Amino acid sequence: MVSPAAPPRVVIVGGGFGGLRLAQALADDPVAVTLVDRRNHHTFQPLLYQVATAMLEPAAIARSLRAILRRQANVEVRLGDVTGVDWEAKRVLVAEGDAIGFDTLVLAAGAVTSDYGIAGVAEHAFPLKSAEEALRLRHHVLARFERALAGPALIDEGELTFVVVGGGPTGVEMAGALVELIDNVVRKDFPGLDVDRAHVVLVEATDHLIDPFSPKSRHNAAETLAARGVEVRLGTKVEAVTASAVHLAGGEEMPTRTLVWTAGVRANPLADALGLAQAEGRRIVVEDDLSVPGHPDCFVIGDLAASRNEEGALDPQMAPLAQQGARHVAEQLRRRRQRLATERFHYQNKGVMATIGRNAAVAELPNGMRFKGRLAWVMWLALHLQRLVGYRNRFDVLSSWAWNYLTTDRTARLMIGPDDRHPGSQ
Ligand SMILES: Cc1cc2nc3c(=O)[nH]c(=O)nc-3n(C[C@H](O)[C@H](O)[C@H](O)COP(=O)(O)OP(=O)(O)OC[C@H]3O[C@@H](n4cnc5c(N)ncnc54)[C@H](O)[C@@H]3O)c2cc1C
Repeated sequence: MVSPAAPPRVVIVGGGFGGLRLAQALADDPVAVTLVDRRNHHTFQPLLYQVATAMLEPAAIARSLRAILRRQANVEVRLGDVTGVDWEAKRVLVAEGDAIGFDTLVLAAGAVTSDYGIAGVAEHAFPLKSAEEALRLRHHVLARFERALAGPALIDEGELTFVVVGGGPTGVEMAGALVELIDNVVRKDFPGLDVDRAHVVLVEATDHLIDPFSPKSRHNAAETLAARGVEVRLGTKVEAVTASAVHLAGGEEMPTRTLVWTAGVRANPLADALGLAQAEGRRIVVEDDLSVPGHPDCFVIGDLAASRNEEGALDPQMAPLAQQGARHVAEQLRRRRQRLATERFHYQNKGVMATIGRNAAVAELPNGMRFKGRLAWVMWLALHLQRLVGYRNRFDVLSSWAWNYLTTDRTARLMIGPDDRHPGSQ
């Protein structure tokens, strides 16, 4: 009796927006899928800022990969840090445990925070790319108010000055959420503290906020933030960061203990370890069909891939790009099984939106339609709820939002974990 041949193995590196969507898209295909991630959970990064500002608990926006994929018979999940690829032997190298053989490899390891080589950012700034980082920032922010209450003289040294660097959607959302936290929660929680001395500053190097939006929406975002009390500093470059201050171009030194860095990303350092050609932001160069030049059995999707539109411009590093790339690769693997030529990947822009705070957001559709204010905010809420993975997470997020909206309170105010930047404040 001849035993049936083992199905070809597809190894996916990364269980984020792209990798998870690909694993799910292959559910009914005759392949064996191994999904490798250094974390045991998928993170919904667009809502990390709400974890950092005490609106949501991390469990509401992250979910165990094993739980998500439990019912899918052709997938196995492996926890591990991928360190490289043995292209000859077609094996993925993992820091802990055996290498994993593949017939097809899909790299979906995403991006990491980029400090652009600015002195002190890596050591002193707070990035916002994972649930751990969001929790650490939450602890740190809440600890600042405790410290300022215990020693009001510290306020002159920047204890209550919160600087957000990067005027993209994440920076705008973070700054808006911080002023709301101060106005709606800290003011009530700390009656003995002069909360009016708390200060949120949004620093952006170019002359406008939220780059992908039209000038009207950019203007609206800047005006709304300013009206809510954020000091918006456009055309302002950060030159260096220390534990107690940010140094701005032109010689200004702003005392602060809290600098949130949302100014940019670069491809995951794994990209540097693979011996593959890299483009801007160290993203891996790909063919039109998202395969790697010289390695037709390897595809790259999402933030890690230097995919381009017809004009040659890089596609934007956003969740829909990763998810569309995943669907595209699943389809190309089917075409190859049918011995058909692979097709070009086309990123479809579905529009952009950013929330500025309660009842305030901007949204733009590819057909030119623009929304702002409460309508855009409701659209933003609905889209993010729909995009979250799993009913449990949607329920958690919706119930927290409803509670926060009705009470203007923030439910996730526990100071958990070490405030490792300023150990004395614990
Ligand atoms: C704060 C923030 C807010 C954002 N807001 C929005 C938004 O509103 N709308 C939007 O469209 N996009 C938003 N984005 C961007 C969006 O999250 C990314 O474009 C998207 O996550 C990219 O998907 P990906 O699959 O390429 O990578 P990711 O989703 O980042 O997934 C990468 C996965 O790879 C794993 N990994 C990394 N290195 C290794 C390794 N060496 N070994 C094993 N596993 C590894 C990681 O643990 C992770 O699970 C936001 C990003 C951030 C950080």
